[in-house]
This record gives sequence, C-alpha cells and structure tokens, in this order.
Amino acid sequence: MTGVDPRVIIVGAGFGGIAAAIELRRHGFDQITILEAAPALGGTWFYNSYPGSACDVPSHLYSFSFEQRRDWSRLCSPQSEILDYLAGVAEEHGVTPLIRFSERVDECHFDPASSCWYVRTETGSSYEADVVMIAAGQLNQPAVPSLPGRERFAGHSFHSARWDHDYELRGKRVAVIGNGASAVQFVPQIAGGAAQLSVFQRTANWMMPRKNHVYPRWVRAAVDRVPGLQWLRRQWVFYYTESLTLAIRHPRTVGRVLALRSALFMRSQLPDLELRARAWPDYTFGCKRVLFSSHYLPTLALPNVELITDAITEVTETGLRTADGRVHDVDCIIWSTGFKVTDFVAPMRVIGEGGMELSDAWRDGAHAHLGMAVPGFPSLFFLYGPNTNTSGGSIIVYLEAQAAYIRQALERLRAGRHERVEVRPDVEAVSDRELQARFDGTAWTACDSWYRDEQGRIVANWPGYMREYVERTRTLDPDEYVFS
Ligand code: NAP
Repeated sequence: MTGVDPRVIIVGAGFGGIAAAIELRRHGFDQITILEAAPALGGTWFYNSYPGSACDVPSHLYSFSFEQRRDWSRLCSPQSEILDYLAGVAEEHGVTPLIRFSERVDECHFDPASSCWYVRTETGSSYEADVVMIAAGQLNQPAVPSLPGRERFAGHSFHSARWDHDYELRGKRVAVIGNGASAVQFVPQIAGGAAQLSVFQRTANWMMPRKNHVYPRWVRAAVDRVPGLQWLRRQWVFYYTESLTLAIRHPRTVGRVLALRSALFMRSQLPDLELRARAWPDYTFGCKRVLFSSHYLPTLALPNVELITDAITEVTETGLRTADGRVHDVDCIIWSTGFKVTDFVAPMRVIGEGGMELSDAWRDGAHAHLGMAVPGFPSLFFLYGPNTNTSGGSIIVYLEAQAAYIRQALERLRAGRHERVEVRPDVEAVSDRELQARFDGTAWTACDSWYRDEQGRIVANWPGYMREYVERTRTLDPDEYVFS
C-alpha cells in the first residue's frame, strides 16, 4: 500500500457500488474510484427500463436506511423514480464525481510482490488499487437460451433487460419468452397494443396481489408529516418480507399458509378453468421467486393474448416452433429469460494470489465468506456476491450491511498500515458448509431455479432472514482474516 489511505476501486455504480462509496467516504477514505460499464449509474435499474419496470419490494425498504424518502409515488416505485433516487443520493454524498462511466472492467489482477490489484478496462485504461470491491450485481448479464435456429429468425428481437424503445410493438405479433419477475411487469403493459401476444411459459409461478396504485394525496401527506410513520412503515415492510422467508424456510407449515393465500388469489384471477390449469404452479411455494402482480394473470385471458405451455423446440425464420409441432409466427421476440446469475463476475477475469483465476476457484460453485471474501483473493471484496440474494426482503439491507462490514476491514488495514487482508481458508470453508446446510428442508431445494448452479448448489441466495445477515455482518471478526 502506497500510503495510509488505501486506494480503492469499486466495480459498478449500482446500489452496491454507491452504498460502498458512501460508507467509505463517511469514514474518511478518499482514494475511491468507481468504474461503471454503463454510461450512467443505476446498475440493474439503468438497464431494466422495460414498460412497467418497478421494484417489487416496497420502496420504504428498498432504499437506504440513511436516506429515507417520504414522497414515493407508490408502494413499489417505478424504475425511473428509483433511478432518480439513487442519482440524488450519489450526488448528495459526493459520490458522483468518483464514477468513471463507460469503463467496463475486463480484468482484475493481483500482484503479490506489490500487494496491488491491477484493474484493466475494455477501453484500455488501467488502474492500480490496494483494495477492489466488486459490486457488479447478480443480475447484470442477460441470458438468452441457445435454442436451435435462434440466429435464423428474420424478425426483430431483444432481451427485456435491454428494451428496444425504438421498436414499435403496437400492432405487431409479439412473442414473450419467459414469465418471471420482469415479464409479469411488462406483459400487462404491452398486451393492449399488440396485435397478438404469445407468452411462452416453461414453469408457472406462485403469484400474490400487487396493485401498486399511485398513493392518494392524504397517504403522502401523512407519511410526510406524521412523526414516526415512515419508520413504522419500514419496520412493517421489513417484518412482512421476513415472513416470506419464514414460509420458504418452513414449507410444510407457514409455507402452506402463504401458498393457500396465493392459491385463493390466483383462483380469483383466473376464472377460466382451462387457463387456470395451465397457469398453475406444480412445485413448492417459494422455491422460485414468488411474483407480485394483480395485472398479469388477467392479461392472459385477453382475446389477443395466448399462454403457450408447450416447450419451444426451435426458432424458425418466422417465429417459434413448439413441441406440439405448431409454428407461432411473430414479428418480434422478447427474451425475458433472466440473467446469467451463477457466472457472477464472468466474463470479467479475476486473477488472485499465485495466478489463480476466480472462475477456477469457483469451478464447483461460487462461494465466499458471508458472500464477500474469497480465500486466495487478498483485499478483494464482493457486494451482492454469492449467497447474498434474498427471496423475500430488500437487497439494499444486505448491501448496506456489506458496505459497513468491508469498511471495517479497510479501517483495520489503514490503522495497522497493513498491505493486504485475506479471509482465512478454514473460516470460509466452515462458513460455506454451515450456510449450505441451512438450505436443507427449505423450499429453495424443492425445485430447479436460477438460484442454483449446474450442480444444483444454491449459490445465489442467503439461506436465512435479513436480520440474521445484518447481525452476522455487524462486526468484522479480525480473527477470521489475515492482515499482513
Ligand atoms: P427470471 O425470473 O429468471 O425469469 C426467466 C424466465 O425465463 C422464467 O420464466 C424461465 O422459466 C424462462 N426461461 C429461461 N430459459 C428458458 C428457456 N430456455 N425456455 C423457456 N423459458 C425459459 O428472470 P427475470 O424475470 O428477468 O427476473 C430475474 C430476477 O430479477 C427476479 O427473480 C428478481 O430477483 C429480479 N427482478 C426484480 C424485480 C423487482 O421488482 N425487484 C423486477 C424484475 C426482476 P423457468 O421458470 O422454467 O426457468
């Protein structure tokens, strides 16, 4: 380390990167550079601009605890409001000038001789850092399935996370592949204008109500003026979302109660028995993400909308062929097929001690101590790393906890004038074993989902409650690390 104040590179200017930079600045760290691949901040909220894009976690919780806004327009804010909020917070905390936009990191390389990280970007720039914090998120690389014939399609196509706003969907025959959290938000928005909308579903979802109306003026006024109301709402939302985790952790008891709640809602939304049968999930409640929308299922019953449950066998020049032999001719295919979650940082190369590649260290599945630190990769930390996603709850709560935890490591580094900090391999191995064991008997293990890697290991999610993670990461235990 060249000075007392470590030089920190943060990769990503989404909620994680901004949270980290604010936390470090508040504690007197000044040598911070944030490298962001996009031309603007926001991360997933910059890229996911599809119609109807909004958070499905109430904004009072899906926001920083130290920057509570009282004038959210709805319970779950639309994408543009979230983006404005994050930009405002970054500005207010003096973080915006630290961001270098359109700088996609393609390699981070640790040099043991100097205890430095060398960070290279696609533009050819290189940076030297004492500490690297990777805050690239889990949901940043759109996944498009490699169906046979995909390149043959002569119509228009795009991924929902890279919405083509220049393409006019009105009057077109549109295919939507996938029916996850993104699709249930934009399908109701585009259905009215499309000549024909074909929704291709591989697996049905458990759904819960969410109308998300604009708040009446009196609600906004009350939140703004009544002391403690905002805090109370945040607390309420916190424990409400923890109840979803409770249901996932206890699928035979609490899980059944919430499944019943969901089933009653879905029945009321799907009066047509044939459609109901096709849109009905056949796996344990909570295994995949439970989706909140009061608009998606009724949209499937519109005359110009068809729910297709036969598997897609190939993409043709004019559309999609399904297992029943039918060809669905369309003008546009929207891939709403999620993200390459289990690849984590790939295609970015991360090379640690002794030339070890992170992709090799994670060959049998990604793992990190508390989702943040990996043995063999000194002074490198993750935000929203392995096993820190939440199925019920707000990722912002986790990111704030991580930012504060990593800051403690940096404080020790600074105070002791150490050159590097590394998690002990035995500590990481034990914590990973314990974490994985906590999935036993939970709904997460009851089906396949994007939370699992190819070997079936759950690598995306934290197995417990938000409050447990916050508690576990509140104080960094220096004995779990080697400072040298
Ligand atoms: P997703 O939930 O992973 O959904 C992908 C969809 O594509 C699923 O229906 C999946 O079917 C389908 N699919 C994938 N590969 C396929 C194939 N080869 N053939 C047919 N269907 C295929 O992706 P997402 O909707 O973009 O959401 C991802 C995550 O982003 C969410 O779970 C959530 O955490 C987050 N998100 C959050 C919000 C928010 O409001 N906070 C909003 C949107 C997204 P299977 O189910 O069968 O795999």
